[in-house]
Amino acid sequence: MPLPYKISTLLYVFNEQGQALLLQRTKEPNLGLWSPCGGKLQTDIGESPYDCAIREAQEELGITLSHNDLHLVGIISEHGYEGTAHWLMFLFEVKPPINQLPPPNEEGSFAFFDKADIPNLKLPQTDSEMIWQLVWEHRGGFFSAHCHCLEEGKNTWTLEESIKGGVNKISEPVKTNPKTPFWNESEKDSQTLSDINAPKEMAIDLETHHYFMGEAIKLASRAAKEGEVPVGAVIVKDGKIIARAYNQVELLKDATAHAEMLALTQAQAAVVDWRLTDCVLYVTKEPCPMCAGAIVHTRLSLVVYGAPDPKAGAAGSTMNLLQSTTLNHRCPIVSGVRIEECRRLLKSFFLDKR
Ligand SMILES: [Zn+2]
Repeated sequence: MPLPYKISTLLYVFNEQGQALLLQRTKEPNLGLWSPCGGKLQTDIGESPYDCAIREAQEELGITLSHNDLHLVGIISEHGYEGTAHWLMFLFEVKPPINQLPPPNEEGSFAFFDKADIPNLKLPQTDSEMIWQLVWEHRGGFFSAHCHCLEEGKNTWTLEESIKGGVNKISEPVKTNPKTPFWNESEKDSQTLSDINAPKEMAIDLETHHYFMGEAIKLASRAAKEGEVPVGAVIVKDGKIIARAYNQVELLKDATAHAEMLALTQAQAAVVDWRLTDCVLYVTKEPCPMCAGAIVHTRLSLVVYGAPDPKAGAAGSTMNLLQSTTLNHRCPIVSGVRIEECRRLLKSFFLDKR
């Protein structure tokens, strides 16, 4: 059934201490949840996203803004949100700090929150699983992301564009992120399995994805050096790599020796179970039908891949076996992580072969 298409703007307002202004909503959608203020675009009067943001700031916050006070930090498209609508959302950062707490209004009441406290609030699902992380990472820059909302509340996110800290670089929030990047590519080059343990407090978020995809990329480069199609994979459980593999079809003379298959076997041995329920697979290329089938059988909790495979990819490109309604397990997907590096490896490998 076709769903209505809705457009909204959201206002990310911060005070001088870098705390974010949130509204606890007294109306559906998001009743009782904390979210940035904003609202629906008045498409019937031809309102632009910027004009909508300015109107919402006036109505909800009682402040008068101009276009120059706004920075478009992100665009998110949501396909089938709560099964009721498709949304296109324009996320604006309000550049001047706002220190005065606005009075409550008919939409709800306001409070400022430290960055560290926001994950503990009751938030809309898409805010807590991805949007806040994207906003914090891209303040002063720009991102665009797509969320495919599945039934059972499972969402598949694709980061389409990511430009960190652009020209209008806005002063960083005063609270520093405890998850400051800890990795250093050159230091991490010669690791063994045991020392690739990410800090325990790391949540599965974009920084994590970036880091673990880096490990898979190193494995893919090794495959290329050995004359194998450059695909690398790691499997992560509780922030630790429990399997690492690269494509070894030529070496093993085995058409099933794809990076993912080898990694799945290793991971099953590591957890002494065929179920990989709490494990995340990072792979540099979109899985093929064979690997996607194996991933479903092992019940992985998430697949993160780099480059799509338009010819044979089975995680959305030619078919989506990972989320087939006829199979008994469906696996969320994050795609496009470090896409350019993953793609470059494959491209240069096949160029050399010719
Ligand atoms: Zn495969």
